[in-house]
Amino acid sequence: MKGFEHLEREIRDWRDKGVFRSLTELESDQGSIVTIGGREVIQLSSNNYLGLTTHPRLKETALKAVEAYGAGTGSVRTIAGTFTMHEVFEKKLAQFKHTEAALVFQSGFTANVGVLATILNEEDVVISDALNHASIIDGIRLTKAGRRIYNHVDLDDLKKALEETQGARRRLVVTDGVFSMDGDIAPLPEIVELCERYDAIVMVDDAHASGVMGKNGRGTVDHFDLHGRVHIQVGTLSKAIGVLGGYVAGPQVLRDYLIHRARPFLFSTSHPPAVMAACSEAIDVLMDEPERIDRLWENTRFFKEELNRLGFDTGKSDTPITPVMVGDDALAMQFSDELLEEGVYAQGIAFPTVPRNQARVRTIVTAAHSKEELEQALRAFERAGKKLGII
Ligand SMILES: *Cc1c(COP(=O)(O)O)cnc(C)c1O
Repeated sequence: MKGFEHLEREIRDWRDKGVFRSLTELESDQGSIVTIGGREVIQLSSNNYLGLTTHPRLKETALKAVEAYGAGTGSVRTIAGTFTMHEVFEKKLAQFKHTEAALVFQSGFTANVGVLATILNEEDVVISDALNHASIIDGIRLTKAGRRIYNHVDLDDLKKALEETQGARRRLVVTDGVFSMDGDIAPLPEIVELCERYDAIVMVDDAHASGVMGKNGRGTVDHFDLHGRVHIQVGTLSKAIGVLGGYVAGPQVLRDYLIHRARPFLFSTSHPPAVMAACSEAIDVLMDEPERIDRLWENTRFFKEELNRLGFDTGKSDTPITPVMVGDDALAMQFSDELLEEGVYAQGIAFPTVPRNQARVRTIVTAAHSKEELEQALRAFERAGKKLGII
């Protein structure tokens, strides 16, 4: 179309390089087995860590909420879109996280943007891990505060950053709890110690740790027993929680401030009843069925060990996020296509989601996968890996 020649040129280039992708359609629900292109395949690309997307209790609660409260809320939270269930959920979440308060955002993405763009000004500095999630990066882009990026999980560089910025009114150090593309865990106890020494605020994004790490899935703060020492916890309701949304958990003053000033909160409509009710039920399921988390970690250990035994490089992951490193962008996509042929859906991830020449097939096993499914997947990895010379 006229006017878009500049985009067409770039897309042609992506096609030539073998990195142009169309979206993969699921024709089923999000289970351990999904239907893609009319075929049942093993799902290894979802963030549905605990299998909650299809949990009967979540589905039933969502249906009941629609019956009682309708399909949508018709307003932003600050005008007419706060239903009792929003407030009840936030209190429940705060209790779960052992914080004074919690506030729900439309997504984890907008929660990060909302916090970072709102609570600092030009007198302040944000100090951020180099591999933090895109939503943290965008939040930093929107803040007037100064910025200092430290090398990934490099405590010496973080210390240097804290020393360099002592003139600022406030420093805020932000890190992913679990890094989303590599699956490594932030050294949170050391980060907290440094921040206490240098009087900085700590913010952790537990999107991949909520429901995965800590008692009943309370996240990295609980895992490292740092309650009361991390000022801001951001998380998502869209991954292990199985539904949709993001949250900020922390002191009451933070919640009060965000309600008045966080633009994604102020200017975007609140969660529909089905979503809020299902999220609430999910917290109850985390409390009632901790064995799901045990199963997730058992499956994680088994799958990682077997991949390594086959000769795959799974990077430095300590969590269910298991990258199978390939290197070349196009080869990663080819590997992913080959796996699909073999009955496994594992998406290739390339630049700009990960640095150039660090392309990979990223896998996430869930509590819902059976041992047989994982064994079948491993056989597919072996065949595809050998065929493409990756192992
Ligand atoms: C997925 C993710 C988000 C975004 O969460 P959504 O609820 O999907 O918007 C934010 N931060 C990290 C680290 C993530 O992995």
